[in-house]
Amino acid sequence: MGFAMVELGKNGEGGYGVWLLARGMIAGGGAAINCLKAESPRPAIRQPAAVCWGEEEEVKVEEIQVDPPKSGEARIKMLCASICHTDVLCCKGFPLPLFPRVLGHEGVGIVESIGEGVRELGEGDMVVPTYIGECGTCENCMSGKTNLCQTYPLQAFTGLLTDGTSRMSINDGGGGGQTRLYHFLSCSTWSEYTVVDAHYIVKIDPRIPLPHASFISCGFATGFGAAWKEAKVQKGNTVAVLGLGAVGLGVMEGARTRGATRIIGVDINDTKREKGMAFGMTDFINPRDSDKSISELVMGVTGGLGVDYSFECTGVAALVNQCIESTKIEIEKIDELLTHEVQLEDVNKAFELLKKPDCLKVLINF
Ligand SMILES: [Zn+2]
Ligand SMILES: [Zn+2]
Repeated sequence: MGFAMVELGKNGEGGYGVWLLARGMIAGGGAAINCLKAESPRPAIRQPAAVCWGEEEEVKVEEIQVDPPKSGEARIKMLCASICHTDVLCCKGFPLPLFPRVLGHEGVGIVESIGEGVRELGEGDMVVPTYIGECGTCENCMSGKTNLCQTYPLQAFTGLLTDGTSRMSINDGGGGGQTRLYHFLSCSTWSEYTVVDAHYIVKIDPRIPLPHASFISCGFATGFGAAWKEAKVQKGNTVAVLGLGAVGLGVMEGARTRGATRIIGVDINDTKREKGMAFGMTDFINPRDSDKSISELVMGVTGGLGVDYSFECTGVAALVNQCIESTKIEIEKIDELLTHEVQLEDVNKAFELLKKPDCLKVLINF
């Protein structure tokens, strides 16, 4: 879509490769680009962006107008962006068919200008736009258990910024007017410039290679966080990962970092074997090579025990059961639930048994 990333060379700081948009921006180690001074006027910028005009329509690179940031916002000059399956879903009208829309929710850039009241960001900062904000004070932000901020939540359903308006528009074609463009997930990263609410912006170390910064802004971080922060995989654990895309590979890296000793990757694509190995995978299963179910295959690899943790990373609902059945909980924990048994003809006893304080589950035998 005109946003292929090209490795242009190495910068001088730390030897990181510099990856830039094919449109030819030059950057190095977090240097500010075209950065306006705070006192400078901030005009609207005309520049290219990837615009989706309707469900299943081909995405077009159009010249659009990006307004200056309003209070509490920052305008970012994007350095590179990446694609995630959610962008594909957006083109199909997910979660709502809001068109025309500027796509993209992964990417990294540099703050070009800030609106009034923005304190924690400055022009020239290397940043990643995110789609879930953080106020730092709401119940969820304070919980330490979830980052689903209640004040700055996922802006998936409006296609607008926090104040209910858009900073992006396009000439309406001869009429002299401007057609409003919807944002995507507070980000719209497939645009040379984008405006984002400062609560949805993360400042990062400029030494991070740009592709890395872009890739960790969605899928990979989801997987990594699931293993590292949510499940808190422990040293010596066994882990199964169903689906070795960016999310699944993120899980592997999170599990490996946590000290998992056995990481079993499951994918119907054999080319994922090599990728998995690079992320610490110890065993690979291609379910198409066998008539057995995935859970049976995982059991086979683990000597019939199952794994400590199993992660479903494909989004295929039918695999959730396979995922659960691959874990040790099947044989160790669920057995603990069985406290009473009755024959079918005594089924009424089951109702009485269920009232007993020591009863968890009553098995009805035939
Ligand atoms: Zn994504
Ligand atoms: Zn919050």
